[in-house]
Order: sequence, then structure tokens, then C-alpha cells
Amino acid sequence: MPIEFKRSWSDADLAMYRDTAARFVEDEVLPNEEPSRARGHVGHEIWRRAGALGLLCADIPEQYGGAGGDARHEFVLYEEMFKRSLSGMNVSVHSIVAHYLLNHGTEEQKRRYLPRMASGELVGAIAMTEPGAGSDLQAIRTKAEPHGGRYVINGAKTFISNGFLAGLVLVVCKTDPNERARGISILIVETKSTPGYRVGRLLDKVGMKAQDTSELFFDAVSVPAENLLGGEPGKGFFQLMSDLPYERLAIAVIGMAAMEGAYQATLDHVRDRRAFGKTLFELQNTRFKLAEIATQIQVGRAFVDRCIEQLVAGELDTATASMAKLWVSEAQGRVIDDCVQLFGGYGYMNEYLVGRMYGDARIQRIYGGASEIMKEVIARAL
Ligand SMILES: Cc1cc2nc3c(=O)[nH]c(=O)nc-3n(C[C@H](O)[C@H](O)[C@H](O)COP(=O)(O)OP(=O)(O)OC[C@H]3O[C@@H](n4cnc5c(N)ncnc54)[C@H](O)[C@@H]3O)c2cc1C
Repeated sequence: MPIEFKRSWSDADLAMYRDTAARFVEDEVLPNEEPSRARGHVGHEIWRRAGALGLLCADIPEQYGGAGGDARHEFVLYEEMFKRSLSGMNVSVHSIVAHYLLNHGTEEQKRRYLPRMASGELVGAIAMTEPGAGSDLQAIRTKAEPHGGRYVINGAKTFISNGFLAGLVLVVCKTDPNERARGISILIVETKSTPGYRVGRLLDKVGMKAQDTSELFFDAVSVPAENLLGGEPGKGFFQLMSDLPYERLAIAVIGMAAMEGAYQATLDHVRDRRAFGKTLFELQNTRFKLAEIATQIQVGRAFVDRCIEQLVAGELDTATASMAKLWVSEAQGRVIDDCVQLFGGYGYMNEYLVGRMYGDARIQRIYGGASEIMKEVIARAL
């Protein structure tokens, strides 16, 4: 009986939803991949298609234009993309932005933005990182100053996922530069025709070639005071902290899907490829490596599945989610490196799935909080 990586959290409804997601990914995302890799972004049309199919904001309530599902629906779409190394649409960042609005926004903010995010009209981005501040978020320097019922934003952000295509950016800035955490607020910026807002370079990354990652500049960008997330200044850092379990688990889900995709592609390859009169699969080293990989996936699967169930039940804490992000992203690096080795030279080619996954995997240990920061968070909970 071949090994299967079953999900403890799936059911008949989710299996049907997975079919819809897989069809969208195969029929619409995959054919768009090569042009997207060449230009560094997927374009707006594919986002609108995903919205039209009900695949965006899957876990946002229907009253705000979402599909009324839960995190499992979101994760199904990430899995279907990332097991095929299709990382161009950063749907998880889009979803994280929607969650900030849902969990912390005023009723007016939810009604104004969530339906347009669900339809794909507005692609979401969150701008925290700056050239001078990444892990140490409290050290950001982008300022938002109150001025006649408005906030005026000045500063620069970098490495922003979906930054090039974003129609809505949550800008993390200082409303009180004399404070660290308590001086941070989140402002909602609609990017279209906004004076002073500028997208910088589309950054040239080691992997995730079809995904847009950009610099963003704010030069006296003026937004109404109603665009302050939740309506109260100084709450931004705490808003960011409260949504961490979802974000960190999403990265773990993506990592598990990539490992499963790489494992399957490698198994197929070594059963077919011959050397020294036999298939690579018949060599003991190959069999042992694949046995190790399958074991790591099963172990990770058990933990991540439990985290998903806890998240859906509202019980996942930040330290446990950080363990999932830490363990899976490190395992993903090891597993995909082993898969590249088993592919030989073909594994190093960008036209092969595992070659692409090798480039994609490296960032998993850095963004969303680097591995070292995950260890700090876990250590604090000991
Ligand atoms: C492809 C990509 C997409 C991204 N998307 C986004 C996005 O959408 N929005 C956004 O805001 N940001 C985004 N980022 C930024 C990302 O979150 C940061 O790169 C990350 O948080 C690390 O910050 P840094 O690059 O400034 O590194 P630094 O903070 O300078 O860290 C460098 C190294 O020092 C280590 N280090 C730092 N502090 C400690 C400590 N206290 N103890 C031990 N080690 C430490 C780090 O772990 C790391 O290994 C993205 C980055 C990339 C590359």
C-alpha cells in the first residue's frame, strides 16, 4: 500500500472545494506561470478570476463578501498552488490583510474593503519591513502625523509581497515616534491615484519568480483619519501580534505542501531514471533518502494537522504556531535539498519543479519572522 499523506481535518465538503481549487490552479494559474515568471508578477486578471470563483477570502463571513468558510478552505488553495511550486499569487498575504480588517477594523472599514478584496478587485499587501528595520519591527521609522482630520504618511518600505499589484496596503507606521510598540498604528492606504504613493523596483529574488515583491514609497501620502485600522492610534503592534498564529501556520502549510509535491516528483523521477543498469530507485541510498523524506513529511503532517484543528477551534497559541513555522521551514530546506540531489543536474534546472522549489524554499526560514525569532518566541513561553 503506497504511503499517503492524509489530512485529519479534511471532509467531503473540503474535498469538493479542493477539486475546484485544483481545477483553477491547473487550468488558469499554471498556463500563466511562464509569462508571470518572466515579468515578475501574475497580473490583475488572475486575481479577479480567483475572486469570481469564490477562492479569495474563503474564510471571511459572507456578510462581508467572503465565502463563509474557515482557515481550512484557505489552506486547501495554498496547498494546491505550492505543491506545484506556483507561488505567484500571494494569497496568504491577501488573506492576512483581510483578517486584520475583519478582526480589528471598524464596521465601516470591513464593509468598504472586504467585498472588494473577495472579488479580487483589490489585491492586499501589508507593509511592515523597512530598509532599516525587519526583525526589530518596533524600530520602524515610517511616520503618520495627524493633520486636519487626516494622517500624512512619510517613509519607505521594502520586500513587500503583492506590493506591485496591491490596491490596498496596510501600512505599519509610527503615530508616536517617541514610543516603541505603543507608538505603532496601521493605516489603510488605497493605492490607486493616491498622490505621493509610489511603487519602487520589482525586486529580483532567488526564488518565487512569479510573485511580485516590491519597494513602496510614501511621500506625504494623505489619508482620512477613518483609515486608521480600528479607529484608535497606538494599537498596531498589538493588532499584528494577535494574528500571528494564523500567519505562521499558513507558512507551515505552504512548506508541507511543497515537501509533498517535491517528494512525489522525486519518486516518479527515480523510478524512471536509470544508472548502472538499474533505476535510481533500486539503489539503497535513494530508497533510504526517500524513506527519510516520507517520514519527515508524516511527522510534520501530524503536527501541522493538529495545529490546523486548533486554529479552527480558536485554540492555537503563538508559541505552538511558531514551532510549526520553525520546524516545517527547516525541514522543507532539508527535504528539497535532498530531492534536488536525487534529480542530479536536472534538479538544478529552473524548468524542473524541484529546482524551482529549491529557490522558493529558502525564504520560508526568513519571512514571517526568521527561524531565530521563532526560537526567541518559543523560548519565552518555556
Ligand atoms: C520574498 C520576501 C517577501 C516578504 N514579504 C514581506 C511582506 O509582505 N511584508 C513585510 O512587511 N515584510 C516582508 N518581508 C520581509 C521579511 O519579513 C524580513 O526580511 C524578515 O522579517 C527579516 O528581516 P530583515 O530582512 O530586516 O533581517 P534582519 O532583521 O536584519 O535579520 C538578519 C538576521 O539576523 C537575525 N536576527 C535578528 N534579530 C535577532 C535576534 N534578536 N536574535 C537572533 N537573531 C536575530 C535574523 O534572524 C536574521 O537571520 C519579505 C521578505 C522577503 C525576502
